[in-house]
Amino acid sequence: MLEKKNFNMTTDEFRHHGRAVIDWIADYYDTIESFPVLSQVQPNEIRSSLPAEPPHQGEKFENILKDVDSLLPGITHWQSPNFFAYFPANTSGPSILAELLSAGLGVQGMLWSTSPACTELETHVLDWLVNMLGLPEKFKSTGKGGGVIQDSASSAVLCALLAAREQSTNYESNEKGCDQHLVVYASTQTHSSIEKAVKIVGLGKQNLRLIQVDEDFALRPDKLLLQIKKDRQDGLIPCFVVATVGTTSSNAIDPLSEIGNICREENLWLHVDSAMSGTAALCPEYRYLNAGLDLADSYCFNPHKWMLTNFDCDCFYVANRAILNKTLKVLPEYLRNKATESGDVIDYSDWEIPLGRRFRSLKLWFVIRYYGIEGLQQHIRHHIKMAQDFAGWIDDSEHFELANLAPLNLVCFKHLGGDSFNQHLLERLNQSGHLFLTHTILNGQYVLRFCVGQTHTEERHVKQAWLHIQETAAKLENILQE
Ligand SMILES: *Cc1c(COP(=O)(O)O)cnc(C)c1O
Repeated sequence: MLEKKNFNMTTDEFRHHGRAVIDWIADYYDTIESFPVLSQVQPNEIRSSLPAEPPHQGEKFENILKDVDSLLPGITHWQSPNFFAYFPANTSGPSILAELLSAGLGVQGMLWSTSPACTELETHVLDWLVNMLGLPEKFKSTGKGGGVIQDSASSAVLCALLAAREQSTNYESNEKGCDQHLVVYASTQTHSSIEKAVKIVGLGKQNLRLIQVDEDFALRPDKLLLQIKKDRQDGLIPCFVVATVGTTSSNAIDPLSEIGNICREENLWLHVDSAMSGTAALCPEYRYLNAGLDLADSYCFNPHKWMLTNFDCDCFYVANRAILNKTLKVLPEYLRNKATESGDVIDYSDWEIPLGRRFRSLKLWFVIRYYGIEGLQQHIRHHIKMAQDFAGWIDDSEHFELANLAPLNLVCFKHLGGDSFNQHLLERLNQSGHLFLTHTILNGQYVLRFCVGQTHTEERHVKQAWLHIQETAAKLENILQE
């Protein structure tokens, strides 16, 4: 028998199988509406269908690809146009293809010198986005600030909090450990990643103050200021505030200007989390969302939520990159190089938790160039218009009512039948497979969330969803009456 020289895929085989994979993905998108949006499998159902042991002998690529079909029942179809749950994690053709190129190049961009283009394209595209979104100039790399791609908004706030901790403690925490009593502030509606960051940074959950919100679920600056003053009186060190533009529960918008002024007067780091809603600022008519952002020390938004760029891609900006770099920089001998020592280059590993990093700016670059600003704006306006139509139907309905202001593409609403009715309604809707939405609690009441943001969602999907919601509610009412 002929001994195989190695087990690699040849470039000819790669060409052949690559085409099959692209076809698979295209077929998937062509038929995606035929699958139940929310996976209906039971725990362990997928795993128990898999072979107990890995193969000793390599298998045919065709067979491996075919088996992806058997995973489909266990897939929740985030790219279905009938996906209205959580916040979207949308994607697009140019993004997927750029991701493939990134894997093909396979570079590791931890330092400028480990692949200069990986760093420079990222810096360039993030500067582009400052203009595209109308962000403050101070976030550009041409001044003291700059942007970096993080895997998630959670990592962004973690980095911001570490930098704030170092600044508040004269850079002594990294040296000696943090023995000071630092305090972090955010609203009761803040994202769970803030609590996680406080735990990871070692500040203690007891030192996270969740500030009361107003009737629209936005942070109350008067309450924030009172709490900061009280903490100072108690001998603690107020350090860090997170304001949110578009909270996850209800899309509430914290008043950045008032919060920012308090942070400037009281000398606290202000981080602005605009994970989903930040993308809306692509359209000039939504730039008002960022009024006051010039007072922030750091900012992030997620193109992997609403900007047609597949997960993972969070854009994180700081006004003063020196603070962040001083906080995170470590340089072992084996990574020393002339470019780093010259001080003329950015080494993005000094801007994040991991050392290694992928070439993620490629997909942003592809998306921005393929759609153009015009194409991206059209998407945002279309999504918001559809959500606003939906909100109008809720408002006009006798059986349902709105539960948030619905300023953009997230509508919170409830059936008038009460908490348990709404819970049953959600369960039935999601079990139907026709659509997927999720819930939250607002003012102690169970409400449904309907977020329009998937790349391929059209009017007909939103209309169908509303029909399903009404029909399912009517059926449920009948059952309860019997
Ligand atoms: C989704 C979300 C996050 C977390 O985003 P990841 O990138 O998944 O970590 C943080 N903040 C807000 C307001 C969000 O909506």
